[in-house]
This record gives sequence, structure tokens and C-alpha cells, in this order.
Amino acid sequence: MRRPRVANLQANGRATAARRRYTGRMAVLPMHYIPDPSLREKAKKVRDLNDPALRRLAEDLIESMEYYSGVGLAANQVGVPKRVCVIQLPGDEEPTVLVNLVVTRREGEREVTEGCLSLPGWEARILRAEKIWARAIDLDGNPVRYKGVTDLLAQALEHESNHLDGVLFLDLIRSKEDLYEITSGTEEDGEDEEAADEAREPVAAGAPRAL
Ligand SMILES: [Zn+2]
Repeated sequence: MRRPRVANLQANGRATAARRRYTGRMAVLPMHYIPDPSLREKAKKVRDLNDPALRRLAEDLIESMEYYSGVGLAANQVGVPKRVCVIQLPGDEEPTVLVNLVVTRREGEREVTEGCLSLPGWEARILRAEKIWARAIDLDGNPVRYKGVTDLLAQALEHESNHLDGVLFLDLIRSKEDLYEITSGTEEDGEDEEAADEAREPVAAGAPRAL
């Protein structure tokens, strides 16, 4: 899921945090873009946590999420059909690796604006749950539980678990007017992007306009 354009101040901090923790040979993996059929494949549950390829995949997902300026990235977006994703929201010190993520309960409904790393330059208004319950494990097999989480975290968990099920945010669009191209000049990373956002429109701090 793409990083919100209005809350991108943590970009550099995120890079540092990720490198501090994961010191292996990380690689940016090539993004698969819509309509690549691999995005429609349901990812396979991870059964062997001791597989060295799994840890390497997690590290590469983190590096790739950072490179593509995402707040989340699912393994099948980079062509690996395993049920693994990473999430790092603006303000998170560390990326979170989620293995076998499953959303177990959704509550309420709200309209959000969302973007996807597999469809650069586009955003859509869609409905997401107000609250999310989800479970996963970390790379060591420890349970990770989310109970009634809201806001951008809920949105990211839904977006990434959708990816792992072969579902795209485009599937949730109700009318074609709800999908629109982002004004050119807002996709650059870093200072230009911040300046462009400031100049263009006032948005409440932390409001997830785009993901
Ligand atoms: Zn996505």
C-alpha cells in the first residue's frame, strides 16, 4: 500500500530503522503492476519458518517497501506467492513482518482514499472497515494479534491481506468516478513531494488521503 502523501515525514527515519535492524544483504525486488496475473494468485500459507528464504524474503520486502515509498507490501506484489507482508506506517520506528496474516473480523464501514504500489499514479475512494481484528505470526513464530484496530493500521491490514488473497483495491470501487489519476508532480519522493503537498491543498495532519 502506498504511503500517505500527507504524512511522509518519517521516510528517512524509516530507512535508518530498517537498516539498523536488518543488516543482511537486502535487495529491492521488482514490483508487479496491475494487471499482472500474479497479483490475482492467492498466496500460499507459510509452513516452514526455518526456511532461510523466508527471512531473506522479509528483508527484501522491507527494503522494497521503503524503496517504493509504501506503508505496506505483500509478497505477491513482488512475484512471491507466499503469505507474507510487511507494514510500516508513518511514525512506526520499525517495520512489522507479518507471516500468514488473516483478517478475522471487520466492523463498521468508512470511506477512505487509497493507492496501491502496484498501480502507481492512481487513487480510489473505497469503503474499508472501521475496525479490524487480525492475526499473524512473526518470523520466529510468535503470535501477532490486532484487536479492533482503526485508522491507517486497519486500512493497511485489510489492503495487504486482500493482496494475499488475490484481491485488489480496484475490486472495491463502486463507480468509475471513484478512481482517478493523481495530479502529476505528486509522485516524486522526498522534499519535492512535501512542498507540492503543502502548496496544493491543506489536509488535516495524519489524514490518510492516499496509501
Ligand atoms: Zn497494494
